[in-house]
Amino acid sequence: VIGALASLLSPAGRRARLQILIFHRVLAQPDPLFPGETDAARFDRICGWVRRWFKVLPLDEAVQMRAEGRLPARALSITFDDGYADNHDVALPILRRHGLTACFFIATGYLGGGRMFNDGVVELVRRSTLPQLPLDGLPLSIPGALPLGDLPARRAAITTLIDALKYRPVAERLEFVRVLQARAGVEALPDDLMMRPDQVVALHGAGMQIGAHTVTHPILARLSAEEARAEIERSKAVLEEMLGRRVGLFAYPNGRPGTDYDADSVRLVRQAGFDAAVSTAWGSNRADTDTFQLARFTPWDRTRARFGARLLVNLRREPALLASE
Ligand SMILES: [Zn+2]
Repeated sequence: VIGALASLLSPAGRRARLQILIFHRVLAQPDPLFPGETDAARFDRICGWVRRWFKVLPLDEAVQMRAEGRLPARALSITFDDGYADNHDVALPILRRHGLTACFFIATGYLGGGRMFNDGVVELVRRSTLPQLPLDGLPLSIPGALPLGDLPARRAAITTLIDALKYRPVAERLEFVRVLQARAGVEALPDDLMMRPDQVVALHGAGMQIGAHTVTHPILARLSAEEARAEIERSKAVLEEMLGRRVGLFAYPNGRPGTDYDADSVRLVRQAGFDAAVSTAWGSNRADTDTFQLARFTPWDRTRARFGARLLVNLRREPALLASE
């Protein structure tokens, strides 16, 4: 039923709507600290549903077909952001088992031992044995200390800290993580969360697409034009060197139109020679949706019926994007 409804809402050709799903991590085992995070068993179920209901296409081909008005009915692409090692270790074997393809957007500066600030926060909170994390004297606008007594308190502490740091400059975020790690009494944080370059090459060799996602995952709208251009162009060049071929797809870090990227960011991505870019605005993409701000969607439901219904609702949703140039 869901496949048939999807074909009605998104028929082949000019009236087609391209739906693009976003994932970040696929954990080998569920994480008690993040019960909502996608794990292997859940991703396997999702792949089974999506394969049955939709026509899953490589994102680069889907972008091309959309431009030419020849998308098949109920077209869908799968994407992953950031470049986590579990994308290679856990998600890739599942995708292959289902005969599916996906596009992986990589923040190149963290490959091979790096760590994004949000994971620094998560892992220092996870590893701390203190009853609370003292924050006195830190310019964080969070008073006192954050309780770490139980899992809900730790989850709340992680959310509070990430929200407080998200819109700060990249170097400042990483410096805060170093300070917080010391305050939390944590000696070492993991350095194997992100892929190594050879794993990116292996994904590509397995028929997956690779896209650029800047170097350090900054909020592009907060950078000067020169800084933003360097982030965008360098991530493309690094990946092209690594893969020995052109990289035509880009994903804006965080991806919310106006908040995380602006009209200047869009212009810089066009000028850098990309074919298309994806945002995190929810919705599906009609023939006239801006190719440099394609909408995506994060599904979260656990049951088949709800998951399917949510994708059908998203198929009809018009994304709220910045005005195209
Ligand atoms: Zn990202």
